[in-house]
Amino acid sequence: MNKKLVIAIDGPAGAGKSTIAKLVAEKLGYAYIDTGAMYRSVTWKFLQTKAAFDEQLISELAERMVIEFRPEASVNRVFVDGVEVTEAIRKAEVTCNVSKVAAIGPVREAMVAQQRRMGEAGGVLMDGRDIGTVVFPHADLKIFLTATVEERARRRYKELTEKGEIIDLATLQQEIAQRDKQDSEREISPLRQAEDALLLDSSDMTIAEVAAFIIRLVQEKENVLCNN
Ligand code: C5P
Repeated sequence: MNKKLVIAIDGPAGAGKSTIAKLVAEKLGYAYIDTGAMYRSVTWKFLQTKAAFDEQLISELAERMVIEFRPEASVNRVFVDGVEVTEAIRKAEVTCNVSKVAAIGPVREAMVAQQRRMGEAGGVLMDGRDIGTVVFPHADLKIFLTATVEERARRRYKELTEKGEIIDLATLQQEIAQRDKQDSEREISPLRQAEDALLLDSSDMTIAEVAAFIIRLVQEKENVLCNN
């Protein structure tokens, strides 16, 4: 039997990480952990309180809340303290506030501890911003998935308009660029490529091509580890 690996996929907003990670995980029989959904869940929980931005309050919520993933064929359902938030965490209000919440030290500590627990047994594919640099610095395979900001905005635009949302492409591009800036410039665990990560620019690749490429890489790695 092949060894089940820990695979880290990091990259900026809208690079297609979650779509691709879900496909690859399904194909390989790995668990998929969407760490962005965890920071979004903390943000959602805080917005429910209607309180003003308060780092201590948000940190306490993050330490206490229970985030659960229930993967289904077409969707990775997310629950916070038993309440389904799968759709709610994708709303604009959450997206606009998540980078500020994700920059809070104790929030990151709480999330990273959970992520390490979820991944310690291997057979896991985790996507985010700091998986290869902080959460699993010794991951078996690290990929930094990116695409131009224009292409990432176009993809997100298509996804949202298909869901019936009315948005402006230029505004979307601005929002993505702003989130990248906040995520890259924060003090704790900023978005950056790990030194030993493979850079994959998907601007001119389809989802299926990127997924097939990563699946091949994983299978090669599984075999190498198995034969050693
Ligand atoms: O991946 P997604 O775009 O859903 O992530 C939402 C936000 O969560 C990011 O913009 C970032 O601020 C935060 N995040 C993070 N570290 C991770 C994953 C996401 O800071 N590992």
